[in-house]
Amino acid sequence: MTQSKASILLIYTGGTIGMVKDFETGVLKAFNFKKLLKNIPELNLLDCNIATVSFEKPIDSSNMNIGEWIKMANMIKENYDNYDGFVVLHGSDTMSYSASALSFMLENLSKPVVFTGSQLPIGDLRTDAKENLITAIQIASLRNKNKPVINEVCLYFEYKLYRGNRTTKISAEHFNAFASPNFPCLAESGVHLKVNSEVLLKKESAKKLKVNTEFDDNVVIVKVFPGINAQVIKTILSIPDLKGIILETYGSGNASSEKWFIDLLENAIKNGLHVINVTQCSGGSVNMGQYETSSQLKQIGVISGKDITTEAAIAKLMYLLGQKVATNVFKTIFETSLRGEMN
Ligand code: ASP
Repeated sequence: MTQSKASILLIYTGGTIGMVKDFETGVLKAFNFKKLLKNIPELNLLDCNIATVSFEKPIDSSNMNIGEWIKMANMIKENYDNYDGFVVLHGSDTMSYSASALSFMLENLSKPVVFTGSQLPIGDLRTDAKENLITAIQIASLRNKNKPVINEVCLYFEYKLYRGNRTTKISAEHFNAFASPNFPCLAESGVHLKVNSEVLLKKESAKKLKVNTEFDDNVVIVKVFPGINAQVIKTILSIPDLKGIILETYGSGNASSEKWFIDLLENAIKNGLHVINVTQCSGGSVNMGQYETSSQLKQIGVISGKDITTEAAIAKLMYLLGQKVATNVFKTIFETSLRGEMN
């Protein structure tokens, strides 16, 4: 069977990759996407058709929010039938959050959505942008018998393709800026592009793409630390309309077993608050009950985030709250892997 050329849509949202330095102040600012493409004539050598679309106002990804995620999801939805794959150019600072959010927004995805960006602007002599962009496009173009090889939201950076909702940004200095501590990479770019087929999400059915844009932002991330006091926890728990907390705990899901701490959480859970336990460690899993300092959390109904990243946990929480998942099944659904985000 002859394969036709893949058609790829490049979505530019902003980020360092397309920024220029203001000569007077030295500050990096977003610039025109058309200029970005002029800087990479190599794109014309790729064996695929590339079309581009840009946020009207490209942003530094520190300004990402639910509205911007919805914009991205809708750009993909509107162009879904016309392209074989999507490459999203995005700032690295919040790329893991956006890739996680999009993985929940795009249900029944059967085409690749590859996030990428760079640590240095595309015009910089030592830029990492060209390799990241070119290989991300090649990955999005991969097809087998005219069907996309990858059917999920992923993130490509510095020779590695990761499942997006498994990633975390680990360096503001190195080109190797991301890690996927609890899941193997999906592909590696060396002399050959090696795809780790066994770990890819399988396209399960012929179900149509469903775009879930209802996200609820009445959530908070709380990182516990030795010395955290009752006043702080009490104040957080009394935030009006708060519906969920991602509680970043120690090690395998441990936290203070002091009475005031457990009582405050227990009371909040009884009043309908969802509390999710994720670990502060960069790798490994929550296992409530392994230590005395986590068994009470289990007893009072804290939800296990297992080996999920904080980025994916907050996105999943906003998604499930937006879906108005009933309280009696919320725990079970949160503890179930929906897009390969947890083991
Ligand atoms: N501040 C930039 C951003 O996230 C950093 C980057 O692109 O790497 O938009």
